[in-house]
Amino acid sequence: MIEIRIHGRGGQGGVTLAKILAAAEHREGKSVQAFGVYAAERSGAPVQAYLRCDSEPIHNPNQIYEPDHLIVLDPTLISPAILAGLKPGGWILLNCEKAPEHYAAQARVAAFRIATINATSIAVHNGLGSKTVPIVNTALAGAAARLLGMNLESVINAFSEFGFHGGNIDAAREAWDAVRIQQQEPAPGERHKPAMPRGRGPSILNGNSGAPSPIHTGQWANQQPVWEDATPPCNFICPAGNDVQGFLAELTEENIDSALEILLQTSPLPSVCGRVCPGFCMTQCNRSELEGPVNVRALERYAGDHGEVSIQPQKPRAQKVAVIGAGPAGLSGAYHLARLGYGVTLFEAGAELGGLMRTGIPAYRLPREALDRDIDRILKLGVETLINTPVDHDYLQTLAQEYDAVLAATGLQRLTSLDLGLDMRRVLQGIEFLDRARSGSVSVRGEDIVVVGGGNTAIDAARSAHRMGAHKVRIIYRRTRNEMPAIAEEVDDAIDEGIGIDFLCSPLRISRDNGKRTLSCQRMELGEPDEGGRRRPLAIPGSGFEIPCDRVILAIGQAADLSLLPEDATLSRERPIEQKGIAPVYPAGDLLTNEGTVTAAIGCGREMALMLHERFSGESLLEETPAAETVVRADKIRLQHFERRDRHDENVLPLTERQSFSEIRHGLKNVEEAKRCLSCGVCNSCDRCVTYCPDGVLRREGRDIIFDYDYCKGCGVCVSECSRAVIYMKAG
Ligand code: SF4
Ligand code: SF4
Ligand code: SF4
Repeated sequence: MIEIRIHGRGGQGGVTLAKILAAAEHREGKSVQAFGVYAAERSGAPVQAYLRCDSEPIHNPNQIYEPDHLIVLDPTLISPAILAGLKPGGWILLNCEKAPEHYAAQARVAAFRIATINATSIAVHNGLGSKTVPIVNTALAGAAARLLGMNLESVINAFSEFGFHGGNIDAAREAWDAVRIQQQEPAPGERHKPAMPRGRGPSILNGNSGAPSPIHTGQWANQQPVWEDATPPCNFICPAGNDVQGFLAELTEENIDSALEILLQTSPLPSVCGRVCPGFCMTQCNRSELEGPVNVRALERYAGDHGEVSIQPQKPRAQKVAVIGAGPAGLSGAYHLARLGYGVTLFEAGAELGGLMRTGIPAYRLPREALDRDIDRILKLGVETLINTPVDHDYLQTLAQEYDAVLAATGLQRLTSLDLGLDMRRVLQGIEFLDRARSGSVSVRGEDIVVVGGGNTAIDAARSAHRMGAHKVRIIYRRTRNEMPAIAEEVDDAIDEGIGIDFLCSPLRISRDNGKRTLSCQRMELGEPDEGGRRRPLAIPGSGFEIPCDRVILAIGQAADLSLLPEDATLSRERPIEQKGIAPVYPAGDLLTNEGTVTAAIGCGREMALMLHERFSGESLLEETPAAETVVRADKIRLQHFERRDRHDENVLPLTERQSFSEIRHGLKNVEEAKRCLSCGVCNSCDRCVTYCPDGVLRREGRDIIFDYDYCKGCGVCVSECSRAVIYMKAG
């Protein structure tokens, strides 16, 4: 570790100098600390600032008493007193006109190496500050960088974090070139004492009977700091409504059960989401600005797979609810209603629970045991299930008479088809293919397979066909990779596994010639955007070509089958479908939103269940969506306060071992990854604010930070020292 003490006067920029050097060291991969100590708060008073940097994490928050090196911003401060604690062999960088040899001859200084730079003159002729108060910190940053063996460009790049340009850069370069150092050997046995005793002096607020009453300096402030948790971007975006920061905070303490308990407040399917969610939260994670987003999805999987939580439903309520469809929305709705004490009957058309999670997501992404574990937790709440029980329009009307409410979550049942000519026996729907692949009732061994589509079903079908021994599998998609709705990681995996993708390509017809089947295709180009904002694919005349094809798998979209619902029903997220004299019907999941992900369906199922609960009980459990302005984005986080940490990724099955449906991702070995979470906008009791407040007006009470506004002069140091934007200034 290197520790540097900086001596200057209030207003000269000593603290900023420490921060510039810290930011530059941080850019070179070091852990850093930079902070100031303000004795008197007036301009011109002596102040000290400190800089620590190390290749290991730094845990010492104290002032520096035995520095390795000193930087002195003001020639008038040069005196033996500032040498206190300086380690033998350390250097002293002085801002002065004199050569280092001038000081080297002096007895006390002779033990150290002296470097001098006329930073005042450099600052003045580069127009930094005024002639009477020149700002010397950027020139000294250039000189110090040279003495520290740092890359000058790292320092200059760090200037941008402080809004320094032009003359500051010139000053740093000039000082880098001009700094001179006198090498001296330390005198044998020479070692200086700390400048001040360790520990704190008596508090100025502990007055005694004879002392004058303290001055309420807080009355002078026109702004006051406010301590208030804000919204982490991961929480804001998660469609399931998960408290991501909250469960990660529990994992940092290795409280796996508590982490799972937090997840189960919102989603009953953490082991599922921890495997198949596209990871919306990770796309918004502020840690991306450092080494990459926190691997939230893998941590959610860890909590789901390893946590143990026993959920006790509330006492039984009088109302009974029929839930139609045991996919993610139906299961989520049933779970939340059962937890709240409602009698729930779940109607499922298929032979097993899980919907497309079971029939449409291959086991190499979502093994059955993980799905079953999450579903069992729901069933343990007392949910009654009726499998092989399809519900059509008439049956739904009957249920609306027998139950107090119906929650309809039948998903997207209508499959989009294409006429590819006479040989349609060689065409399978993607969803149907995946279900038959699961049950072993289809074989594609040795066949040339063409999958049409760009969504997750297309990717899953292609990768499944590849595992089932197809001769060649290729995907054709009408648009480009940019427009592809499939999860990007899954597309990459498919390509790595040997699946070819023809972009800007559309199928026309299957034909058979001399016993060989081919699929005629045509090339496309992108035109103007359609209603959904995606550029419309247009056929290029005369661009036809043929590819070998024994079978086509169509995965070009699904739609909701609304024939189930009452005639003229209006679908809305705000209110149910009301019918005179019978129970309301709450549509949920893809039937309502067509968002197309398990995560969004889980969130919608919960939302509708809580809306239904509010109708029956008057109790509102649905949280208000936080305002977008309350979301703490990376520009508000003090990224330079955080040490670098390598990202933990899941172990992945090697490509050479992917011939079966064995799960590809093997999960994390532990929860170390959670420690990379920055806790954006949420106080994690680091107490930097308490430590650095120059007036000592903050104190912690339990989880809260309390300000003594009588003595807070509104300097804002707590705001700039809070790493995670929990404190902000408000006009007082
Ligand atoms: S660092 Fe943590 S709190 Fe911040 S966005 Fe990422 S996961 Fe959420
Ligand atoms: S469900 Fe998806 S978006 Fe939500 S926390 Fe889990 S991985 Fe992130
Ligand atoms: S500095 Fe630390 S303790 Fe203080 S408000 Fe910020 S996160 Fe909380």
